[in-house]
Amino acid sequence: MPSRKFADGEVVMGRWPGSVLYYEVQVTSYDDVAHLYTVKYKDGTELALKESDIRSQSSFKHRKSQSSSSSPSRRSSSRSRSRSRSPGRPGKGRRRSASQSREHKDDKKKTIQETSLALAVLILFLGCENNTKRYNGEPESTEKNDKSCIILEQKLKPDLEIKRVLEQYSLRSRKEDKKTEEIFSEKKTFLAIKPIEKVPSKTKELEFGGRIGTFMMIFLLPATVLYLLLMCKQDDPSLLNFPPLPALESLWDWRVFGVFLLWFFLQAVFHLLPIGKVVEGLPLSSGKKLQYRINGLYAFILTAAVIGVLLYFQVELHYLHDHFMQFAVSAAAFSLALSIYLYVRSLKAPEEELAPGGNSGYFIYDFFIGHELNPRIGNFDLKYFCELRPGLIGWVVINLAMLLAEMKIHNLSMPSLSMILVNSFQLLYVVDGLWNEEAILTTMDITHDGFGFMLAFGDLVWVPFVYSLQAYYLVGHPTTVTWPVAAAITVLNCVGYYIFRSANSQKNNFRRNPADPKLANLKFIPTATGKGLLVTGWWGFVRHPNYLGDIIMALAWSLPCGFNHILPYFYVIYFICLLVHREARDEHHCKQKYGLAWERYCQRVPYRIFPYIY
Ligand code: NDP
Repeated sequence: MPSRKFADGEVVMGRWPGSVLYYEVQVTSYDDVAHLYTVKYKDGTELALKESDIRSQSSFKHRKSQSSSSSPSRRSSSRSRSRSRSPGRPGKGRRRSASQSREHKDDKKKTIQETSLALAVLILFLGCENNTKRYNGEPESTEKNDKSCIILEQKLKPDLEIKRVLEQYSLRSRKEDKKTEEIFSEKKTFLAIKPIEKVPSKTKELEFGGRIGTFMMIFLLPATVLYLLLMCKQDDPSLLNFPPLPALESLWDWRVFGVFLLWFFLQAVFHLLPIGKVVEGLPLSSGKKLQYRINGLYAFILTAAVIGVLLYFQVELHYLHDHFMQFAVSAAAFSLALSIYLYVRSLKAPEEELAPGGNSGYFIYDFFIGHELNPRIGNFDLKYFCELRPGLIGWVVINLAMLLAEMKIHNLSMPSLSMILVNSFQLLYVVDGLWNEEAILTTMDITHDGFGFMLAFGDLVWVPFVYSLQAYYLVGHPTTVTWPVAAAITVLNCVGYYIFRSANSQKNNFRRNPADPKLANLKFIPTATGKGLLVTGWWGFVRHPNYLGDIIMALAWSLPCGFNHILPYFYVIYFICLLVHREARDEHHCKQKYGLAWERYCQRVPYRIFPYIY
């Protein structure tokens, strides 16, 4: 097996993807499985390059001196030379000898090669420059990304050099410039550039407070769920009224655990049914694409049918409400056991199947974030299944159980208006998630984080038991909402939903097919990876318009609970914190992925989530 040629930390020349440009880069790591180097460009972009796309600086300098006399810039600087003369030809009017004539032929050949090279470089250069300028709305200004731009053994100074090269090769600058710009504004061009994915290497930057932070989260998350549910059970759930701790044995019931297992495996069976289309996920670092069956909505319909049958046979669904805490504890115990299983199996997983975010080498950190990216049993993808099925559909079932419990406890013939609002808003959210199930394949959860305690607990405990807090609260704390208030809250929810849905759809459609005619009116900044960054439409409004819509909806879900306690607002407060933190994580990843292009995007779209605020 060939050993690596370049060491970590070495400064070398790395080819810019899809181009003939070489930049100064620093080797940050090497993947001996995929034989790819992770290199960092001066603008912060990190890419994976093959050894053949990397050269040592010394060889570069050597070649540079050999051919320096024939570089376009040198040639054009000699005004006395006519255009018909070979730029590399020795001057001073000496007569040609035979060897000189051979040299001349070689030079001619070289010139032709260089001409096409320079043209290619020029097109690339102009394309990148002009596009970005245009999208930044700065038609006259020059981008400041030329600091380390070395174009095959020569440096080009943007404006001057382009002009010189244009003159030298008889290119009409204005028209051609415009034409080149047009060519590069075609979305197809960016499709043609093969994206280079980052190879999974050791996770160096630890999130969530590193080892200590993640260790604490493992205890803090279950404790928070326990606290919230205990608070909700109190008559006066004010912050200062700390709930008494329950007896340990009251938290566990094997029957409840059995019902939980039944639920989990029923959803697994629904997921395994050969109904629904099969789609491919985004390419993994190995280039492989996993297949996923999209049948969440069918699973939801089948679940609704099962619930209907249970209700028909008068099975008391409010059992869920009566044993809510025990269900939460069962789900927590199951998610802990699942996380242990996931970590143990990840130790045998091949290197390229480890998660970019959860491969630090620290047990506790990797256990929390998830060590393996896509753990599968055969074709059954555990993370994908848990993300949208048992927890998300379970949330709707819990809400329904709370609605029935409210009717039973308060002897109502109809659920309260507040309960109807909470149930319908959250039902819409879940159905939307299942309807657009495919979109989850491009989220950070699927592409970056592994499957560990964080997602297992989040999907199976946090989502169903914390997100249903408003409905649980309303059972014990009836709140009256007038019709006009209900109408206003509904409008708020619809506004949030509209922003959330259209922003997510815009980005997902753009990622799936940038050449989609429906997106023709949208502008984007090109990036070195081949993907563009939208700068008009929702993604030109703020950098995370989908988060904005989500937060507006979260507020609409809490408002039907009135203003007596802060407890039902826990969701919206927590959600803002979650999305602000998530936004920062995403921003960091995007900066690494897109480097300068991301900075330009941030300049163009300065607000992250809330326009004019944050
Ligand atoms: P997003 O859907 O916001 O995607 C972020 C990614 O989008 C970036 O990494 C980047 O990836 C791409 N991107 C960023 N800017 C642009 C741009 N200008 N043009 C094109 N692509 C861009 O990620 P999330 O997974 O965080 O969120 C998905 C949805 O899930 C959101 O609506 C969010 O509100 C919701 N959510 C809900 C939660 C809940 O508990 N209810 C929890 C977390 C999220 P790339 O360039 O690689 O494609």
